[in-house]
Amino acid sequence: MKFTPSLLPNLIQLIANVLVQNTEEVAALDQAIGDGDHMVNLQRGINGLLAESAGIAQLDWAAAFKKIGMTLMTAMGGASGSLYGTLFIGMSKATKQSELTLPDFAEIFSEGVQAVKQRGKAAAGEKTMLDVLIPVAERLRKGALASMTLAEVISDITSAAIAGMESTRDMVATKGRASFLEERSRGHIDPGARTCQLIICVIVNELAAQLPT
Ligand code: ADP
Ligand code: MG
Repeated sequence: MKFTPSLLPNLIQLIANVLVQNTEEVAALDQAIGDGDHMVNLQRGINGLLAESAGIAQLDWAAAFKKIGMTLMTAMGGASGSLYGTLFIGMSKATKQSELTLPDFAEIFSEGVQAVKQRGKAAAGEKTMLDVLIPVAERLRKGALASMTLAEVISDITSAAIAGMESTRDMVATKGRASFLEERSRGHIDPGARTCQLIICVIVNELAAQLPT
């Protein structure tokens, strides 16, 4: 199965909806261990993407990822704005294809996550969105290498994203604002990990729903 950027406007709208549905929960998470603005930042980003979405659907993948990254970089703000911007710009740089297969996407996503690690000077286990992004990138690559079906990979990614998000609860933050709290950051899910998991799950759920049965 191959994918083109024409699927992006629908995904952007679904992400906007899931963010609205989880606004209060995420605001509370960022109030607990950050400054409370994470959902506001994300909503600025998604509103920027909604405004651009018809144009994005007409681009090739490399240009679409770049446009998404630049839009998030300028519209969002916060640590998460530059990190999400970096994710998509990193993906854009790794994209040579006009239509993406699962193995292509697995490689491209891994490159984007690598760029986020460099930009944030962070690794797994630091209580950030990377505790979702890194395991998801690994499962994607493993699934593509093992020639798993798309349906199998999607279910694998969903559980990796949820487990990664949950794992941040018991971590002590060593990056970002939450790191100022040191030991007191333990016991709360990282807001950036939660929203990253929500976004990934809504994307893969929708792709699963579109698979031929
Ligand atoms: P800010 O921290 O500037 O208020 P947000 O509230 O929008 O920005 O985003 C906070 C989230 O960003 C955190 O929950 C965490 O997941 C993520 N984050 C912060 N710093 C880093 C970093 N260095 N590397 C990766 N992710 C980070
Ligand atoms: Mg914040």
